[in-house]
Amino acid sequence: MNASNHYDAIVIGAGPAGLAAGIYLSRARMKTLILSEGITGGQMILTHEIANYPGVENISGYQLAVIMKKQAVSFGCEIRTNAAIQDMNLDGPVKSIFLADNITLTATSVILAPGGRSRTLGVPGEDNFKGRGISYCATCDGDFFTGKEIVVVGGGNSALEEAVSLTKYARKVTVVHQFDHFQAFEHAIDEARRNPAIQFIMESMISAFHGNDSIEHVDIKNLRNGTLSQFPTDGVFIFIGYLPNTEFLKNKVFLNQQGEIAVKADMSTNIDGVYAAGDSIAKRFRQITTAVGDGTVAALASINYVNELKVKQQQLITA
Ligand SMILES: Cc1cc2nc3c(=O)[nH]c(=O)nc-3n(C[C@H](O)[C@H](O)[C@H](O)COP(=O)(O)OP(=O)(O)OC[C@H]3O[C@@H](n4cnc5c(N)ncnc54)[C@H](O)[C@@H]3O)c2cc1C
Repeated sequence: MNASNHYDAIVIGAGPAGLAAGIYLSRARMKTLILSEGITGGQMILTHEIANYPGVENISGYQLAVIMKKQAVSFGCEIRTNAAIQDMNLDGPVKSIFLADNITLTATSVILAPGGRSRTLGVPGEDNFKGRGISYCATCDGDFFTGKEIVVVGGGNSALEEAVSLTKYARKVTVVHQFDHFQAFEHAIDEARRNPAIQFIMESMISAFHGNDSIEHVDIKNLRNGTLSQFPTDGVFIFIGYLPNTEFLKNKVFLNQQGEIAVKADMSTNIDGVYAAGDSIAKRFRQITTAVGDGTVAALASINYVNELKVKQQQLITA
């Protein structure tokens, strides 16, 4: 074990869950490294405006990420971004993480916080028109559709909230949803229903995307009677849930059927010394606050684990 490459804790993921864990770990004088495939901030940096993070009335996701990163670094946390993990061995008292260029990092404890990503419809034309009319991020792409007519797919909180926010840009927003009811909070449903720029097509789904350089129309299938109609549109925003970024964790920790990491109340996984936090764990509500809360619990449990292990190892040396 190379001491300079050994950490008390390695956190995988630099979203709010990983950054919160990094803040708590490094403040507790744990030698900590946050490793991230992408840049710091995770999904937060896709968020133009955050108005529900307690204590901060209004902030952009990017700014919040910058502050969280600064806080973690100020306590001595190292952050390595754009790091591709090749393999991991999480069993035993020393965990190994293998990166490209034959770099091996070791840690006493690992916190998994890889977050998630948008689910796709998986219908013909979707891959073709991604970034050319199809978007999964209203904040990122809403402006491109100023004065246009767009479709929003989905019936949960994200779909309805983003449909409302997209009316700041688009002239008309049509929400297409597969069921006859929404799976969103009442206030989100009310706000969408009250908005005169939004119309709804229920019990329907997009079955194909068509166009040339960009989308020109979609096929909409009525799921009650099976009829197919062509619906002209300038763009489509898809908000139909997410997939946890846990492919690299298959056979490493226990994942449930949805691929989410199963954790106990202290965020421990089925492997000793391995914890998980944020959008990648099995839970119902996925927000910055919940990710930060999970990251905090995982860090505190990890600190406890590392300290107990250090005491045991010291006792063995002195015995
Ligand atoms: C458009 C949009 C708007 C949102 N608006 C809000 C809002 O207003 N308020 C709110 O509370 N929540 C909002 N959310 C949700 C919130 O952003 C997420 O719940 C939160 O970011 C989840 O945090 P996380 O740390 O678990 O994961 P993420 O933010 O997804 O971060 C995961 C991190 O893990 C890294 N990673 C992934 N795979 C690997 C790997 N194999 N190896 C190494 N690193 C990896 C990623 O690069 C990233 O750094 C929004 C989400 C989106 C997409």
